[in-house]
Amino acid sequence: MHTQASGQQADAARTAPCPQCKEIKAKRYAAVRHGDKCTAAAMATAMGLHQRASHA
Ligand SMILES: [Zn+2]
Repeated sequence: MHTQASGQQADAARTAPCPQCKEIKAKRYAAVRHGDKCTAAAMATAMGLHQRASHA
């Protein structure tokens, strides 16, 4: 498995759909829509922690 890597493939792998990412993004988006800055900030923090934990 050492084919010539295309930039697109590498990028897709890095931003692979992850259920938890989707959930956090959805919650943050909903919070922003409702003007819930507290939850939006918490979700932004959660996203950062999750990305460091699962996508480092
Ligand atoms: Zn994720």
